[in-house]
Amino acid sequence: MSTKVPIVENVLKLNDELALQNRELFQRSGVFAVDLIGAPGAGKTALLEFTLRQLKDVINIGVIVGDPATSRDGDRLAKYSRHIVQVNTGSGCHLDANQVRHAMDKLKLADLDVLIIENVGNLICPVSFNLGQHCKIGMFSVSEGDDKAAKHPNLVVSADLLILNKMDLIPYIPFDLARFRQDVEHLNRAAPLLEISVVRNQAASWLDWLTARAGQQKSFRKAGKHKEKAVARSQR
Ligand code: MG
Ligand code: ZN
Repeated sequence: MSTKVPIVENVLKLNDELALQNRELFQRSGVFAVDLIGAPGAGKTALLEFTLRQLKDVINIGVIVGDPATSRDGDRLAKYSRHIVQVNTGSGCHLDANQVRHAMDKLKLADLDVLIIENVGNLICPVSFNLGQHCKIGMFSVSEGDDKAAKHPNLVVSADLLILNKMDLIPYIPFDLARFRQDVEHLNRAAPLLEISVVRNQAASWLDWLTARAGQQKSFRKAGKHKEKAVARSQR
């Protein structure tokens, strides 16, 4: 008889309850929240640096960034935004809803349009821990090899968006792009796959996706107000 399975289930159940509370807070504040999951070195923090730089005059973005140790990622991102919270997980290999909730307390959600949660670099257990996010993003990079989508089906299946970074390395690395695309399509036809290169500043598709989704979230919350304004305009 194993006691391990019930314990894991209880942990996940409690996590799901806390995640629901996080989601309510996001909804109330009109914040579009995403959970960014990828391996160490995929370019998650680099993507966020790029994003904060490019969108600083367009939308207000906050970041909760998880790492086992150091504030290096948080320090990098703090150059572009004051809405950054670093979480150190120690031996923990993922963020859970409770950690995110505590980090949220350090942010003024009302000032934000978007909250990006950069999860601990890991393709496995972050997938199981709901953080209350609206969308889950699975991020891969060319340098990891073309077999990673197939090897991590849980992430690919549950992702709302998939990103393949470091496209600039394709000429130098044995990466079968057709095979990677095929694996992704086989697992998840609904999620768009964005092929980008952060170091080359080639990620317009990502910026478009993020701003569109953030806009939808805001207009969902402010639907009433927008209607009032539209009526006022039409009466002018
Ligand atoms: Mg990072
Ligand atoms: Zn973990």
